[in-house]
Amino acid sequence: MGIMLRNLTEDIVIRRLDQLIDQLDCCKCDYCRLDIASYALNRLPTKYVATTTGELLSKISYLDTDFDVAIVAAITAAAEVIRKHPRHEAVAMDKLPIVNE
Ligand SMILES: [Zn+2]
Repeated sequence: MGIMLRNLTEDIVIRRLDQLIDQLDCCKCDYCRLDIASYALNRLPTKYVATTTGELLSKISYLDTDFDVAIVAAITAAAEVIRKHPRHEAVAMDKLPIVNE
C-alpha cells in the first residue's frame, strides 16, 4: 500500500449519495448513481490530498458542516436532473448521449 492522490470530494460525494439515495426519488441503477455523482462533482470544488487508505478515512470523517451542506445540495440537484434525463436505457441500447448541462 503506497501513497496515492485522491480527490476527497469524490469519496465524500459517493458516500453521501449512498446514504441519501433512498430519499432522492430517483433510479438507483449504477448508471444513474454515477451520473448523479459526476453531475454533483462537476459543481463542487475538488479537494486533492496525497494520502494512504487509512489516512483517507480519517480525513473524510473530518468534514466541515458547510461543505457537507454544499455536497447534499449538489447531490439533490443532480438527482433531479438525472431523474428527468436518465441515460440507463440509452446505455442499454449502446447509444450514450452526453448529459446536456
Ligand atoms: Zn437508472
